[in-house]
Amino acid sequence: MIEHVVFKCGHIEPKKPGKRYYKPQERLCFDCYKNQQLLEAEKRAAELGLPQLRGTPKQVAWALVIRDGFLGWTENVVYILPQAAAEYAQNLAARALVSQDSAKFWIEEEGKLRKHVLDEARQRCYNIVEESNNDDVPF
Ligand SMILES: [Zn+2]
Repeated sequence: MIEHVVFKCGHIEPKKPGKRYYKPQERLCFDCYKNQQLLEAEKRAAELGLPQLRGTPKQVAWALVIRDGFLGWTENVVYILPQAAAEYAQNLAARALVSQDSAKFWIEEEGKLRKHVLDEARQRCYNIVEESNNDDVPF
């Protein structure tokens, strides 16, 4: 007899041998989880007035979730960069968020964009530190 797993959303899946199910009664099934992620991403994008993405419906759904992840990441750069650099990074990120409306871009380039934003911000921060050090030079 095949055992079944019942998730919080009410969906039932046959138990896969060898797979561990952690508290399924408190969790959504994979499809519902994906849908919820997409709905949350759509909601946040609408709240922030982010551009509608261009692409196939499948690409757009995928890219929306990726872009939403990027959005969360930009909020967290404050934990990995000094304040001035974090602000700079967030400005750069915001520019990408409002200008990049290609689903393909988010799917293929998001990783590179994160790196670019960090590199630029670190470079910028380094310049700021140098400038302020110069101001401290006593005459
Ligand atoms: Zn479900």
